[in-house]
Order: sequence, then C-alpha cells, then structure tokens
Amino acid sequence: MKLIIASNNAHKLVEMKAILAPFFDDVQSMREAGIEHETVEDGETFLENAVKKATELAALSGCCAIADDSGLCVDALGGAPGVYSARFSGVHGDDAANRRRLLKELENVENRAAHFTCAIALAWPDGRLLTAQDALYGWIAHDERGTNGFGYDSLFLLPERGLRTAEISPEEKNSISHRGKALRQLVKKLEAL
Ligand code: IMP
Repeated sequence: MKLIIASNNAHKLVEMKAILAPFFDDVQSMREAGIEHETVEDGETFLENAVKKATELAALSGCCAIADDSGLCVDALGGAPGVYSARFSGVHGDDAANRRRLLKELENVENRAAHFTCAIALAWPDGRLLTAQDALYGWIAHDERGTNGFGYDSLFLLPERGLRTAEISPEEKNSISHRGKALRQLVKKLEAL
C-alpha cells in the first residue's frame, strides 16, 4: 500500500519518509502524488486537525495518509496560541511576527512555562485510523537566540539544557521533540499491528 504524507514541508517529509518507508510499498508527498488539496483546519484540538487532514487525504487518494498538527501552548495564556500557533500574529506563517506577539503578550509575566504539542494521525482508505500525541516542555525566554529550527524555536528554552530549541542540531531536536516522540509512538503502534 502507498502512503501519502499530508505536507509539503521539506523537513517533515525527509524525517517521515525515513521512518515510515519500511512499512509501505512507497511513501510520497502530496506534490509527488499529484494531489492538490487544502484541509480546512478548524478543529479545536491538534488531534482533531490531524485526523481531519489524514482521513480527507486517504478518502481522496485511495491510499494510506499521514498528517500531523502541532503548536505551542503557553500556561500563562491559557494554552494559547495552541491550534492558532501558525497565525498568532494574524498572518498565517509569519514566524517572526508570531514571536513578536508572543513576547508582547508575556511582557511582565513571570510564569513562562510552555509546551509544544504534536498530534499525528495515520488513516487508511477503509476507515482504519492510528493516532499518537506527545509534548516537549520548556519555558518562553525573554529574547531570541539560535538560528536552527523554525516557528517559536528561538524563544523556546529547554530548562535542563539552558539552550533554545533553535540552538540544538536537527538530530538532537528530533530525539526530544514533540514531533519526533509522537512519530516514534505511532511507529510502535504500526509495528504492533
Ligand atoms: P504545523 O503543525 O506545522 O502547522 O505548525 C504549526 C505552528 O506551530 C508552526 O507554524 C510553528 O509556529 C509552531 N510549531 C510547531 N512545532 C514547532 C517546533 O518544533 N518549533 C517551533 N515552532 C513550532
């Protein structure tokens, strides 16, 4: 059975292809599979959005489909920006503007606890579904540091390391990240089938 990854993000594709290739005859991105489809991400949770993306793509393609949804949840903001992480500033995908808004919202706020969450869903065209979710806990710093990663990485402080997720290598981040852990959980479930 062919697997289609519901993403055109180069980083995610490389990582997911390497991990999932042993389980499928072929693993392709949506672009490689010639599918143009945008799921409306209107779920209230990461899991709802991931499941919606994967099931829509599986139904549309007749293949297996995998999708993830992730974001940053800040305790002092009641879990915001959450599912709105990519568009916190009002402009979808403007990472720098999203970070500026976050720093503004946390001005004079002492409790800087936050976590990244990632939900992953793997859907079969016959309706079967596997899901996994995991998190990475840390703090929101007062200034930006580091050039690796994306999104909120230059603000996300790993307390036990004293480093931002933008200051560690992609391999290191993958070994501790919400996305890496959720993907490995999903693979365990796949192996158990
Ligand atoms: P998506 O699930 O790829 O759409 O990610 C949603 C948004 O959450 C991104 O645009 C980032 O702002 C944020 N985000 C998710 N994962 C990470 C991460 O590992 N580092 C930094 N920001 C992240």
